[in-house]
Amino acid sequence: MKLAERMSRLGTETAFDVLVRARALEARGRKIIHLEIGEPDFATPSHIVEAAKRALDEGWTHYGPSQGYPDLREAVAEHVSRTRNICVGPENVTIVPGGKPIIFFPMLALLEPGDEVLYPNPGFPIYESMIRFLGAVPVPIRLVEERGFALDLDQLRDSLSDRTRLLILNSPHNPTGSVLSREDLETVAEIVRDRDLMILSDEIYSQICYDAAPFSIASLPGMPEKTIILDGFSKTYAMTGWRIGYGVMPAWLAAAVTRLMVNSNSCTASFTQRAALAALMGPQDDVHRMVAEFRRRRDAFCDGLNSLPGFRCARPQGAFYAFPNVKATGFNSDELAERLLNEAGVACLSGTAFGACGEGYLRFSYANTYQNLMQALERIGAFLAKARVPAAASG
Ligand code: PLP
Repeated sequence: MKLAERMSRLGTETAFDVLVRARALEARGRKIIHLEIGEPDFATPSHIVEAAKRALDEGWTHYGPSQGYPDLREAVAEHVSRTRNICVGPENVTIVPGGKPIIFFPMLALLEPGDEVLYPNPGFPIYESMIRFLGAVPVPIRLVEERGFALDLDQLRDSLSDRTRLLILNSPHNPTGSVLSREDLETVAEIVRDRDLMILSDEIYSQICYDAAPFSIASLPGMPEKTIILDGFSKTYAMTGWRIGYGVMPAWLAAAVTRLMVNSNSCTASFTQRAALAALMGPQDDVHRMVAEFRRRRDAFCDGLNSLPGFRCARPQGAFYAFPNVKATGFNSDELAERLLNEAGVACLSGTAFGACGEGYLRFSYANTYQNLMQALERIGAFLAKARVPAAASG
């Protein structure tokens, strides 16, 4: 028996592969500094954990509604209405196990084979994986480093066709940490306003930002009808392992996504939803503390990267990733990431893990302790001081 053809079109997330390889090195006694995986290194705030324990004791251990519990959907609608300055209700919300299903399910509901999807490159690898899996056509839109990794708006304009059905935006952005400006989003909205397409706005890092709150394209007139907001609890509340997130979208699409939930997960875990409700309704001090600590690390780590020979790192405005340009080291990205893991004991990702436009960059997650980050910089510096650039890579 062989796998269906579509499985050959399904990609992966390299971070999980690198983690496995780093762990194998550790099993052989090496000390590895983990800067590859994208999850906060903080504990889930204790009042959220307590809410989950209470929910288990109270018997929230059965199936729940496939769209999510009404009180949680109400709280999400209120939160999103307030933070995006729009008016959405519980009928617009579907609760799902993590943010990722809001990439998969709306695409499954909307795309026919041959439809075209515009998406940022470099970008979260699951976008391209899902587009290809569904037989749709991936149309990458470059990010421009000189404009703080903003979208290339001319390329966006030129890439639209009669087959374009979906535009994916991600701000704050993985892997570059860029935040799309209101001006750029107004331009994007003008470009797509009269087109028969939807926008998937991946806002999973919406609360992890260092300047003004990120602007959502859904906040612009006429856009809520065209936009699917992906957000959740994984990053904001350090809840990656709880598997809970949500999508906010027009009610007709929320109903379709709910039907996909009935057919796949049945529902998101009931006690997890009680914890998520406590997260949204409870104190936000832990979130503020976490973001302040990320900011401290960002500043020191980016300064450190900029002092390394051949490295140039723009200061990210959101998320918890640094995405330095390493072209001047003479290494290509894959080679440098590989050698940093094996020879310096620093696990990071090659920019190419985020698409072809990631060549020449590395991604470091600074969701690790300040001390480890400083040690990683020392190790990378020591490696660069003695490493020989391979002839082929140095060109
Ligand atoms: N979108 C982006 C841009 C991400 O970086 C991630 C996780 O790394 C997700 C979505 C998925 O989040 P979750 O773990 O909640 O499924």
